[in-house]
Amino acid sequence: MKVADKKVVRLDYTLKNTQGEVIDTSEGAEPLTYLHGSSQIVPGLERELEGMEAGQGKDVVVQPQDGYGMPDPQGVFGVPRGAFPPDAKLTVGDSFIGEDDEGQALPVRVVELREDVVVVDANHPLAGETLFFHVDVREVRDATEDELAHGHSHGEGDHDH
Ligand code: ZN
Repeated sequence: MKVADKKVVRLDYTLKNTQGEVIDTSEGAEPLTYLHGSSQIVPGLERELEGMEAGQGKDVVVQPQDGYGMPDPQGVFGVPRGAFPPDAKLTVGDSFIGEDDEGQALPVRVVELREDVVVVDANHPLAGETLFFHVDVREVRDATEDELAHGHSHGEGDHDH
């Protein structure tokens, strides 16, 4: 069976950055499972997996525009210190969930601490990065009706949402 829309794919992967550092890997953990064609994984990787079969492996280079996009300069902005609890210990590199103008949850990272302002970055940490994947396809199966209705893959027997 080949990877195509409406198939559930189980794969092992390693993701490296341009410097060759491992950013993420399924090694030592569970393989990644996703529903093909539902944008659960970055578009550049999903496209390259199309047509592969269980047992096949591949190196895939994903350009930023097919990965996590380019960083948006407007995603970097200052938040007044007063918006944080007075006893909050802030460190560059900290991540927390803020709120956008519409009150939606917005994950951000602290990039700079000024006297009265905390500069945060709401861009994805891998925005602007070229992604170097190695993937090994372990299993390709038809998605269940539940999975198609939900738009994502389900684990074996568990469904807790
Ligand atoms: Zn579901």
